[in-house]
Amino acid sequence: MTRLSSYLLPTEKQAPADAEAISHQLMVRAGLIRQLGAGLWTYLPAGWRVHRRVEQIIREEMDAIGGQEMLMPLLNPAEPWRRTGRIEIDEIFKLEDRKGTEMVLAMTHEEIVTTHVAQVVRSYRDLPQILYQIQVKERDEPRPRAGVLRTREFRMKDSYSFDRDEAGLEESYAKHIVAYDRIFERTGLEWYRVESDVGMMGGTAAHEYMAPCAAGEDEVALAPGYAANLEVASADPQPAELPAPLSQPEEVHTPGLTTVDDVARRLGVAPGAVLKAYPVIAEGRGLVLVLVRGDHRVNEVKLRNALGTQVRPATADEFARKIGPAGFIGPVGANAPIVLDDAVGDGGYVTGANRADHHLRGVEPGRDFPFERADVRAVEPGDTVGGHPIRIEKAIEVGNIFKLGTRYSSALGASFLDESGAQQLVTMGCYGIGPARIVAAAVEQYADDAGIAWPRALAPFDAELVVISRGESEERAFADRLYEELKATGLDVLYDDRDAGPGEKFADAELLGAPLRVTVGKRTLAAGELEVQLRRGRERRSVPLEGAAEAVH
Ligand code: ATP
Ligand code: MG
Ligand code: MG
Ligand code: MG
Repeated sequence: MTRLSSYLLPTEKQAPADAEAISHQLMVRAGLIRQLGAGLWTYLPAGWRVHRRVEQIIREEMDAIGGQEMLMPLLNPAEPWRRTGRIEIDEIFKLEDRKGTEMVLAMTHEEIVTTHVAQVVRSYRDLPQILYQIQVKERDEPRPRAGVLRTREFRMKDSYSFDRDEAGLEESYAKHIVAYDRIFERTGLEWYRVESDVGMMGGTAAHEYMAPCAAGEDEVALAPGYAANLEVASADPQPAELPAPLSQPEEVHTPGLTTVDDVARRLGVAPGAVLKAYPVIAEGRGLVLVLVRGDHRVNEVKLRNALGTQVRPATADEFARKIGPAGFIGPVGANAPIVLDDAVGDGGYVTGANRADHHLRGVEPGRDFPFERADVRAVEPGDTVGGHPIRIEKAIEVGNIFKLGTRYSSALGASFLDESGAQQLVTMGCYGIGPARIVAAAVEQYADDAGIAWPRALAPFDAELVVISRGESEERAFADRLYEELKATGLDVLYDDRDAGPGEKFADAELLGAPLRVTVGKRTLAAGELEVQLRRGRERRSVPLEGAAEAVH
């Protein structure tokens, strides 16, 4: 029963004063959400319908790849979070129970799901597994913003894969790509899958799903056949600008910085590994040389990103931590220095001197050691990929998938016995989607001056039936019947049966954005017709009364 006269849909003429994002403005104005506090939002009935539609699409596609839905508590003992070290993350809400036991409100569920897997998975026969839930997360975001785009409490679909080895993880990851591609396709959003940084999850590889929209906080670089988070995007080879020659390199004592041998050793790279030198402009402050094994693009990108985003101080530890266990750095030749940081002030370069606690100042790449001048660097407007100009767009991250490897299984003791009886760590992946962001991104992408224009798959109602009549009338009697008939065809219909004028009803219908509006009025009824309007493009047509319900469907 969805008659607007008795449905809680509090529309507003004005958006909240602090609402900048279109989705924030329109979702409040259309009566979908109401704010409770900073980053805390309630979904009113129509808003919750949209959210549930997104959840259902996700559920169907997760089930289709063999995902098993479960539910884990939001309130967690702190202990597993200590074991992984993530208790230190600033976004975690912490509290104590009445006995003084330290607790955590889950911001994600790797710790908890891995704890269970550690208890119940014994043998290789228990693997692989894909487990998922659609559950609340709590995050003390530094800047909650833009309505439901960045909140402190939100629901997430989070899934976790457990495999016996890397090859298994590859399969689980590939399945998730299939599921995610289908999910985003079905939502009707405009979206991209892009390479991304592994961030706080740790792990070896990741992709993000991005929905371009003005309120997004990420930027994606796009060209035909190419999409990357700007953080990791790389353009076609371009000659890197070299500094003017300075003097001869001067060796300086630099405790705290490390030699190239140290770096290689800490990263576990054999000296002499096949490496390539890339000059990279970092933070517009000069040249940082990175040494990358072979032509592997992801590695190259990850390494460059590690440098580009946090170049100073670039210690070997920091390299090792950011670059991960695979290790991409090593010496090019016996005495080739690695540039760890650009020099401060004098325009020269500090490079590793192959002697502990010493670096060379005033090195000129090319003069003092060989390297290739031109290669990847961070994307800027005007760059090209494959010869095509790159477009940079704002986007919001709607989903994120990670190859975790054994980071959580080793911290939490999730292992199994293989065929030979040897104990092995479980290899994991994790995969998140924020339904609220899908909802808000759909509003952002398709809104027009009159309001929201939902993709059909997400709309709170398939159609809004508007009757133009105050009190009892022939039109109302007809609309009552039509409402029942439309419902019987399987459409989700909102019936605006309020005692209000046509102006108010049309404005509210356009604001709410059901894909179809069906209008019953005195004039059209007399002419033997209904007026039907498509929300997108607001194209109108008339439908004969006879069999109207079928024609509308
Ligand atoms: P962001 O970079 O925008 O902060 P995140 O990388 O921290 O997001 P993940 O930890 O990857 O987010 O969580 C998985 C998904 O959960 C995200 O892709 C996003 O759709 C959703 N999500 C994350 N944080 C929020 C939030 N504060 N409000 C609403 N949805 C969120
Ligand atoms: Mg975040
Ligand atoms: Mg992110
Ligand atoms: Mg993410």
